Amino acid sequence: MVTITALDTFDVRFPTSLAHDGSDAMNPDPDYSAAYVVLRTNSPDGLAGYGLVFTIGRGNDVQTAALAALEHFVVGRTVDGIVGDLGAFARELNGDSQLRWLGPEKGVMHMAIGAVINAAWDLASRRAGKPLWRFIADMTPEQIVDQVDFRYLTDALTPAQALEILRAAEPHKRERIAQLEAEGYPAYTTSPGWLGYSDEKMQRLARQAVEDGFRTIKLKVGLRLEDDIRRCRLARETVGPDIAIAVDANQRWDVGTAIDWLRPLEDVGLAWVEEPTSPDDVLGHAAIRHAVSPTPISTGEHGQNRVIFKQLLQAGAVDLIQIDAARVGGVNENLAILLLAARFGVRVFPHAGGVGLCELVQHLAMADFVAITGRKEDRAIEFVDHLHEHFVDPVRIEHGRYRAPTAPGFSAQMHESSIRDHLFPHGIVWSALPLAAGG
Ligand SMILES: [Mg+2]
Repeated sequence: MVTITALDTFDVRFPTSLAHDGSDAMNPDPDYSAAYVVLRTNSPDGLAGYGLVFTIGRGNDVQTAALAALEHFVVGRTVDGIVGDLGAFARELNGDSQLRWLGPEKGVMHMAIGAVINAAWDLASRRAGKPLWRFIADMTPEQIVDQVDFRYLTDALTPAQALEILRAAEPHKRERIAQLEAEGYPAYTTSPGWLGYSDEKMQRLARQAVEDGFRTIKLKVGLRLEDDIRRCRLARETVGPDIAIAVDANQRWDVGTAIDWLRPLEDVGLAWVEEPTSPDDVLGHAAIRHAVSPTPISTGEHGQNRVIFKQLLQAGAVDLIQIDAARVGGVNENLAILLLAARFGVRVFPHAGGVGLCELVQHLAMADFVAITGRKEDRAIEFVDHLHEHFVDPVRIEHGRYRAPTAPGFSAQMHESSIRDHLFPHGIVWSALPLAAGG
């Protein structure tokens, strides 16, 4: 009988702040990091499940400690017992009455629970010999509904309504799998748009993005209005009228500031404005959306759980949403959010800046296309081109599109050498840096 023998954790950090990669109005100096978790088993073939929480440096030790606090849920249990009912496993972790006090269902503990749930899905799909997107796509509508905790959702989405959505997608699944494997899934890129980049670097990278086949680019905004007006107009001149330009304020503004800031950017023709204000402020997003219409409004990468997404949708506060693979309660809660978005007819543009997020979230978007909405050409997954070399099964981007992963699992596994070298604070990469002591 195969059992889980250990839950191992690693505080892995990359010194990305040195080059301003990832810099935005709220996060000027991120060190992209992963609180990384491995569920080890006694299977002779070395079967294990991998998961991670993305953080941006300080606090990654706290996040790693939260992962370690979940050890007693998994160690000593059989793999069958966990992966045989992932819905029950997710409900068990989220429902632990003592840990729930630390949320409920939000913040550090919820993110840790999400990573362990994701590691269990990774284990399940590896054992099935399928990439995660395909593992989900091959479930019946009833099996997918069983993954979702409908508590707090039924005023917006009932199990019967979810089943209806999934059954409607069922007849053409096979064709869509073939289509996905042939065409890939649209990507958009944030690589040109970090706030710490010069105009020249932004323009050069924007031109490169278009040459590489991307149809949408995204710029960070929100520090100085005159800079944003100049950068957005320069970007428009650079990419021409046919490429979509989105902007991302990373929660920088009050509601009134957002409205005033966005008016002079109207002539740029924005594809969407991301995170204009606090991720918890549902009514604030609704007010901004109403005031700057028809400029589309988006949020979600910091959406703490399915309840916030429900409210954003119920309040008509957003034109599109982002999902994040490593913030909410794992695959199960993201399935709930995808079903909610489908119910409200709102498009999903998954968040994927950060280490490992592209690798993870592509699976969720692809499962959505095959098994839930049947749509992909009116949406796109974020792509940022760095740190992929640290993953055993990195994303493959061709002509501005994600290729469907073929290797079994959830693509979260990192190379042993990358983990060892980037361990904080004593890995070789950090011990060589003079600023390591400051974290
Ligand atoms: Mg963003």
